[in-house]
Amino acid sequence: MGPPFHITMLFILSLLSLLSDPVFLTPIQNDAVFHYINDQQNEYIQRLKNWVAIESDSSDPSKRDQVNQMMEITKDYILNIGGEVEMAKIGEQEYSPGVKLPLPPVILAQIGNDKDKPTVCFYGHMDVQPAKKDDGWKTEPYTLQETNGNLFGRGTSDDKGQVLALLHAVESVKKFGLPVNVKLVIEGMEEVGSQGLEKLVEDKKDTFFSDVDYIVVTDTPWLSTKPGITYGARGNCYFMLEVEGAKRDLHSGGFGGTVYEAMSDLIYLLGQLVDVKGKILIPGVYDDVVPLTEQEKELYKNLEFSLDDMQADTGVKQLLHDTKAKILMHRWRYPSLSIHGIEGAFSGSGTKTVIPAKVIAKFSIRQVPNMNPSLIEKQVTDYLENKFSERNSPNKMKVSMVIGAQPWIADMNGPLYVAARNAVTKVFNTDADMIRAGGTIPIAKRFEEILGKPVMLLGIGGSDDAPHGQNEKISKYNYIEGTKLYASFLQEIPLV
Ligand code: MN
Ligand code: MN
Repeated sequence: MGPPFHITMLFILSLLSLLSDPVFLTPIQNDAVFHYINDQQNEYIQRLKNWVAIESDSSDPSKRDQVNQMMEITKDYILNIGGEVEMAKIGEQEYSPGVKLPLPPVILAQIGNDKDKPTVCFYGHMDVQPAKKDDGWKTEPYTLQETNGNLFGRGTSDDKGQVLALLHAVESVKKFGLPVNVKLVIEGMEEVGSQGLEKLVEDKKDTFFSDVDYIVVTDTPWLSTKPGITYGARGNCYFMLEVEGAKRDLHSGGFGGTVYEAMSDLIYLLGQLVDVKGKILIPGVYDDVVPLTEQEKELYKNLEFSLDDMQADTGVKQLLHDTKAKILMHRWRYPSLSIHGIEGAFSGSGTKTVIPAKVIAKFSIRQVPNMNPSLIEKQVTDYLENKFSERNSPNKMKVSMVIGAQPWIADMNGPLYVAARNAVTKVFNTDADMIRAGGTIPIAKRFEEILGKPVMLLGIGGSDDAPHGQNEKISKYNYIEGTKLYASFLQEIPLV
């Protein structure tokens, strides 16, 4: 008996690809790529198992060797599939005063270098969040375990599984002739703020990145079980609001009724920020928010999202809005204000009768296009200063904005997005959910600003993967079909 038909086909097609250098694969070749991916499933899972086994926790300096080892293994695999790799040094990290540790190198890799083909640069990371069985894991976090179609283990979804799916896709398509040049930026410090990465991108702007046409981040989940493409993220302006009264903490028995209390002032001010329906009360905050168009409204209709699941997941009695569209719009395309905590306030159990001398509240405003952080800073400061002066308290009040991260939004009708949507339709036979992140994705904004090229987030994580939590997983379905998604996407990228 000879080899199975598709293996024979694969062999013939591989020979053909040596003769010609196809820019786009034919449908038969695309099928052959998918067959090949199906045949490699066990190997893909085994490789993920090997990668998960390395405890590349970037937050723990004692595990830095494992992070470095992870970068080496990734490099070896990229070399193995025919890439060229530079391990870019990015300096040191001072993790406690006077104690320095070299940062893990960033992988800058290239597969294919044909001037006539577009170049797409993918970003991902090999470090993970901390994980211990004691945290409440059902299985050993660094031992990949397959249960009911899910692959459990730290990093399976964030981000080893997603990067591996991409690398496997590149390897599979390459057998038939890659229609694009692939570049890779893979770092080992993402979970602790990507130290050194921004500078590296700036330094390599005119060298490694000079011919990059598109940037794709492979580090993001879908909204549901339906494939999602992320085209925007909110920014964040984080504020500290300080009120200082006495020079030391006082006792309410001795001083209650005799002094202006800092905490009362602070609570009053916090109460002026947002109403019960979540509306921000600071004048001008909504002025620059991009108006909602009918076309955008349409987008929200087909998104797969359950308010019941959200309510069950959070355990809240009622959500602020009663439709899927309104909830998602308020998560993605409208600003929100949240109060996070009060430093210096008594927060222990029991009944301490203290009058805190100085208290600092922390609150933040999630930014959306086209809000401007420095304008928001002024609006917030003016408003709180007015409110405070109206109150006529002799205490000292100070507002400062400590983070001013801008929102990010891409043109979802641009060629990069069309390619991804076509790929989703081919692999999953459905339209992609066009989604945004309610949180901040600084890397997307920075890549766009530094390189001036379109950025897209095309991930394959499930909405319930618990990337930073206990029992992180990726489903086998997402992992394998996600590999096909990347394989298909590589063939849809248009010439520039
Ligand atoms: Mn990640
Ligand atoms: Mn993460």
